[in-house]
This record gives sequence, structure tokens and C-alpha cells, in this order.
Amino acid sequence: MARWPGSNLWFEASVVDFNDIEYQVMFKDDAKSEYVVKYRDVKSVEQFQRSRSKSRGRSSSRGRSTGRRKSPGRKSPSRKSPGRPKQIREPVIEIKPVKTVEPEPVPVVIKPRTPSPKPVIRLARADKFAPRTSTPTRQSARIASLAEKHDEVDGQVNNIKPEVKTVTENKVATQTLGSRLCGLTSCVGGCLKSAACAITPSLATVKALIGSLLIVALPFICNELCTKRKCTILELPNMPRKLEVYYDLRAVGIVAAFILMQLLLFLIPIGRKVSLPNGAQVRCNGYVSLVATLSLIPLLMYLDYDVLIVYTLFRQIMATTIALAVLLALALYIRARYIPDDAKNPAGNTGVFLADLFNGRETCPAIRSLDLKFFALRITATMWLMLNVIVVVKDLQTHLGLYSPTLLVACTLQIFYAVDLVWFEESLLTTYEYMKNGCGLFFSVGTFQTPFFLTIFTRLVLNHRTELEWYILSLVVALNLFGYTICRGSNSQKHAFRTNPSDPALAHLESLPTSAGTRLLVSGWWGVMRHPNYIGDILIITSWALLCGFNFALPWVLLGLDVLFIVARTYEVEEACRKKYGLAWNNYTDRVKYRLIPRVF
Ligand code: NDP
Repeated sequence: MARWPGSNLWFEASVVDFNDIEYQVMFKDDAKSEYVVKYRDVKSVEQFQRSRSKSRGRSSSRGRSTGRRKSPGRKSPSRKSPGRPKQIREPVIEIKPVKTVEPEPVPVVIKPRTPSPKPVIRLARADKFAPRTSTPTRQSARIASLAEKHDEVDGQVNNIKPEVKTVTENKVATQTLGSRLCGLTSCVGGCLKSAACAITPSLATVKALIGSLLIVALPFICNELCTKRKCTILELPNMPRKLEVYYDLRAVGIVAAFILMQLLLFLIPIGRKVSLPNGAQVRCNGYVSLVATLSLIPLLMYLDYDVLIVYTLFRQIMATTIALAVLLALALYIRARYIPDDAKNPAGNTGVFLADLFNGRETCPAIRSLDLKFFALRITATMWLMLNVIVVVKDLQTHLGLYSPTLLVACTLQIFYAVDLVWFEESLLTTYEYMKNGCGLFFSVGTFQTPFFLTIFTRLVLNHRTELEWYILSLVVALNLFGYTICRGSNSQKHAFRTNPSDPALAHLESLPTSAGTRLLVSGWWGVMRHPNYIGDILIITSWALLCGFNFALPWVLLGLDVLFIVARTYEVEEACRKKYGLAWNNYTDRVKYRLIPRVF
């Protein structure tokens, strides 16, 4: 038996975890609520019955109203709380059906959150200050009616009004006019408030609006900040106003042909099958798509097609791809009306349109084996690789075959990363991005704009390069490979562990058990810092920025933005892990103290 935090009510529960001072318990309610409670708030059933029967004996002399107030068996509509488990009445253990206000999911709470003082407490206060003229019996009836009213209307006014009525009839009479005026004022106030609410967007809408505008506009702004003529952040970007600048039928054709080709390649029955969370199976054949798409460039050049049209129509291709991502997000928003509840993303089903569109209502949308997140990753990586190859072709054409080592290194490092994403595409399935984030505007635009956003580094080198000495290039490559080793090593280690924790190759790794059934790695890469893959990513992007030199601020601003995003992401991921793993996550953070840089952060 465990005491429900913040109340005097005891319920059946099972112990999930414990430390020196606290238990983590799971109540036997529908939502299987988990709380952390003190030792004294947990008892075995026999101990509980013994202590309750003793306390009954002692409390027989207490005032009736007090006894009633505290009695867990008292029927009170205020116990509609969604997460409340079946209640035990004393002395007979009786399980009462509890009214629930589902479907609100009850989060797994780590720190005992004292529930807000529910009507029971307010009623107790009202009872205490009630005039002594009334008999305990009448008073109890009033309390019961109060409780009912309170449950119907959530507001203190309802709690207090009847109490005032009982003080004296005269007072009631004199207060009638006042309370009517009060009612009128509150009605007018309420109307004004609802009108204001109707025209004032909620905070969630404002946040989603800002996020959507930023994520859509940022690649266009960066593209105009860094052109062939200049690359500066000190001047406002000269954004073209005419729509034609962003639209070209050829660009639409290129994007459509590319996506269609990727779709066909995605479905070819080559490559190892892996299971998706929806039970469908997907083939890991991204490398086939990559090679097939890449081979188009020499083929088209051989056939005398102008492959550099992709470079010429860069802005239009980017606009078409981003427009397509927005349409995809809208389509997914509508589709989510027909999906089962367990496929929904809790953060994307708030009822606030823009927030839900931005966060995504569904977590892993898939049409049979066509998993959209999986497919989007492949499109991004292949497009990114192709754009970098085009940048190299453009350089060779502009400089009549004289290649630039700095540009070649810059493009090779980005191509290397794109190939890695596709080669290890399976490891996407155990990332936070795949498992927890919704598939909304943030995901679709964020993913589809990545190739255009990241090639800003290589296009800057193409247009404004300073040739770097070979030893500087070597150092940059070394830094990149160092970052890559950390990023790939940690991602693969976690993926292997999540896929098969009893793999003998991972037997040397230490891990912590958790109440969720899975374990947390506390040695290897995940024992050095809590997000080794993120630090690897930061080092990789730093190496790209270094190749642009120190004459331009834009690559460093982009690096700074990415670091900010990654730091924010560590908090987001850890919050989700804390909810999922409870005390075990606290033990992990005690053991692995730093998020990104040992002894620093
Ligand atoms: P991760 O791949 O880092 O996955 C986080 C998940 O890993 C957690 O939710 C948890 O999931 C599991 N996990 C955490 N700690 C441990 C541990 N000690 N032992 C075992 N499992 C653990 O999340 P992301 O989706 O954010 O990252 C995916 C990729 O994207 C990474 O390569 C990252 O570098 C990159 N990325 C890049 C960004 C950028 O701006 N450059 C930003 C964000 C990501 P579980 O429920 O399975 O326990």
C-alpha cells in the first residue's frame, strides 16, 4: 500500500525502484501512475491493516466531521482525478470503481508532485470556519452538497457561497444584490476574457508561428546573405520580392523526378530487412539509391545534358522542395485524423492547430513499408550528396579543370557524412528523433531544407575561398575524423545495444537496469558524457566552418546556432528520459555527470 502524494489516501501499489530515502511506486490504476514517495508512505498490506485498525481505535473519540473529512472511504465526487487508482476502504478492503476523466494520459512523475489542493481540503477549511449554530449532521450534508457543486463547477466562489448563506439569513439578503452585481461583473469579465482569448493567439500558437517562419525562412535568408558577390551578415539580405524568382517549372520537374526515382529505388527488393515500430519491414538499401542517383551525373554529362542547371536553379529547387515539405506536413496533419491513438504524438495533439501542425500529430507515419521518416532521411542524404558533387563540377567548369584542394576537401567531408547517414540508415530507428518526435512541419521542412542549408559551407568555399595550406587541411580533416569517430561510434554502440543488449560484442559494456525494462549504458561512449553523438556532430560542423576560413562570419554563426540547438536538444531528450526512466535516469546522471564536455558541461 502506498500513500497517494499530497493526500491521506492509501492505494494498492507495487515498488518499482528505491534508494536510501525513497521508493518509486506504481499505483494499480488504469494509467499505472508512477510516483516517488517517502519510505514512511509505503507499507505492506498487513502492516497497513494493522496500523489502520489501531488508528481507528484511537480516533473514535474525535469529532465526527473531522473523522469524516479524513476518511478515505467517504464518497466524494471530487475523486474524479484521472489517475486515481482503485481505493481501499477500511476496515474491509473494498475496491471502488473510480470515475475517470480519461483520455488525458497521466505522466510518470519522478519528484512527488503535490497534487493541487483538491476540493476535499477546501471543504475542510470551510467546515472549520463554519458557524457553530448548525449541527454536525446538517453541516455534513452541506459539505456533501458542496463537494458535488464543487465538482460540477471548478471555482472557489461555488465553494464559499453556500457557506456564507448559512451564517445568517439577513446577511444573505443583504448580499443578494452584491452577489448579483458580482455575477454580472464576472459575467461581463468572462465575456471580455473569452473575446480576448478568441482574438489573442495562445502562447503555443505564437511559438509555433515563430518556429515555422524561422525554419522556412532561414535557408532563403542564408542563401541571400552569402551570394557570389558578397557574404556578410552585417547587411540585410536582399530578398527577391517576385514570385518567379522562387518558381520555375524546370525546378519542379527536377524535384519531382528526383523524388519519384528515390521512391522507386526505395521499393526495390534488395537489401537487409529491418522491422519498423508499426510491424512493417523496410529494406536498408539506401546505398543502392545513392550509387544509382550518383551515376546519373556522368551519364547526363555524357548525354550532353547540362547538370549545372541544378546549380543555376538552386533557389527555385530549394523553394520547391520546401513547399513540398510544407504540403507534406499539412497532408500528415489531415491524415492523423484517421490514425489510432497509440500512433499519435502527445505533443502534437493539443488541439492548437499551428502547434500541432508544427510538432506533428503522428510520430512515425508509414504507408506499409514506406516509412516517411526513413524515406525522408534518404532523400536528404542523397540530395545533399548530389548538391556537393554539383558544386565540385561547377568549380571544375569555372576554373577549366583546375581543382581546388580546399573545395575538394570541403565537399568530400560533406559527401562522406551523407554517405555515412545512408550506410548506417538503420540506426535512425533507435534515435530520439525517430522514436519520440512528431512528423510535422518542424520535421519535414527541417529535414528537406538540410541539403540546401549545409551546402552553404561548400558554396561559400566555391565562391570566396582562400586556399588553405596542406597542413591546415590535414588538421581540419583530422578534427573531422575525430568528431566522426565519436559520433558514429556512439550512435552505432547505442543502436547495437538497443537492438540486441545481449550481443556478446557488447558484453564488456556496463549498463543500469531501469523500470522501463530497457537498460542504460554507463560505460563506453555513453559513460564518458551523456550525449557523445552530439559533441561528435559539433566537431564535424566546426571542421566545415574552419574550411571557410575566418574572413566570413556566416559559417560561425551557423555553427553557433547549431550548438544552441544541440544544447536545447540535450534538455529535451533528458526530460523525456527522466519521465521514462525515473530514478534510474537520476542514477545515470549521477554516474555520468556531464552532458557534452566532461568537467565543463
Ligand atoms: P539520440 O540518437 O542521441 O537518441 C537519444 C536516445 O538515446 C534517448 O532518448 C534514449 O532513448 C537513448 N539513450 C540515451 N542515453 C542512453 C544510454 N546511456 N544508454 C542507452 N540509450 C540511451 O537522439 P537524436 O535523435 O537527438 O540524435 C540522432 C542523431 O542526430 C545523432 O547522430 C545526433 O548527433 C544528430 N543530431 C544532430 C543535430 C544537429 O543539429 N547537428 C541535432 C540533433 C541530433 P531510449 O528511449 O531508447 O532509451
